[in-house]
Amino acid sequence: MIKLHDKVFTPYLREEQILAAVEKMAVEIAKDYQHETPIFVGVLNGAFMFVSDFLKAYQHPCQVSFVRLSSYHGLTSTGIVEALLDVPEDINGRSVIILEDVIDTGRTLKKLVHLFSKTNVKEFKIASLFYKPDVYSGEYSIDYVGMEIPDNFIVGYGLDYNELGRNLREVYQLKQNNMINLVLFGKPGAGKGTQAGFLKENYNLKHISTGDVFRYNIKNGTELGKLAKSYIDRGDLVPDEVTINMLKDEVEKNPDAAGFIFDGFPRTTAQAEALDNFLESKDMQINATIALEADDDILVARLLERGKESGRTDDQDEDKIRNRFDEYNQKTAPLRAYYEKQGKFHSINGIGEISQITERLSVVVNSLS
Ligand code: AMP
Repeated sequence: MIKLHDKVFTPYLREEQILAAVEKMAVEIAKDYQHETPIFVGVLNGAFMFVSDFLKAYQHPCQVSFVRLSSYHGLTSTGIVEALLDVPEDINGRSVIILEDVIDTGRTLKKLVHLFSKTNVKEFKIASLFYKPDVYSGEYSIDYVGMEIPDNFIVGYGLDYNELGRNLREVYQLKQNNMINLVLFGKPGAGKGTQAGFLKENYNLKHISTGDVFRYNIKNGTELGKLAKSYIDRGDLVPDEVTINMLKDEVEKNPDAAGFIFDGFPRTTAQAEALDNFLESKDMQINATIALEADDDILVARLLERGKESGRTDDQDEDKIRNRFDEYNQKTAPLRAYYEKQGKFHSINGIGEISQITERLSVVVNSLS
């Protein structure tokens, strides 16, 4: 993932894929032109990298030249394109092949065709490394295409977003911000983990349970596990710094996720603030915090039952359970006000059949998009 100005981009085409497309075009064009000396005309600025790699792949007699076109900022629907560097001289009677980086609406292409229509070339052909058939509305057919791509905004390999990104060797696409990021909120035993299991399937989300990550680390005897164990055994919270860094790592491990369910995190105001800042730096945000509400006595009974099955020591001792509730009341409960202030807090009755509770949660999640 990379950030250019205010936007986040994710990897889309690897260098090998791009070079394979360039190579394929060179072979196709050589088939048609290797017995003459065509003039390749690169369209600046975007095509400079493509032209360079194309020429390395085209090992037959040829000449190279450039035109430079510029679109005014704030294009109107008709689009105004201006020639800054005009057609090369002495092209009359020669075969000209335009090398474009990307053709989308066809606006630039129209101007190019117009520019060259004043000349007396033998043949005029268009070769574009990338082509967006879904948005192309021009009449001119494109003679050579490296790769057809969907209508996503791309950068890299010569292409820019407000002049940044041209030097990237790979192509990235703009990250569409239609992620759903949820915080499941509630006391231990409220059913967060159970419900996260359903939500992640139904909405294709990545479930991050900080409690599960700690238990995994304890089981595997990692440094993190050793550090967290004493706190967890007492039913105390693990220090914020440790938990926050661990959470960030878990998010970073899943750059392609369609969204996250945060279960058992944040549990303190410092964690909530750190989460907001971290997500913002990735152009992400929490969409909703959903609390599962249930009485303490019901929760204690549930946890003791769970402790028998799972062997979780912190679920087997009522004192430890009550200590976790105290931690919740002191440190986690204030987060309700934190998220209410952001207009993101939703409360759900956490008592009933599991499927009924899933249904109540789904109503909230469906209302988000
Ligand atoms: P859980 O499985 O969510 O009930 O978490 C079990 C234990 O892991 C808690 O009692 C804490 O000791 C620790 N833990 C889990 N999440 C956090 C968190 N966000 N902040 C601090 N400690 C946590």
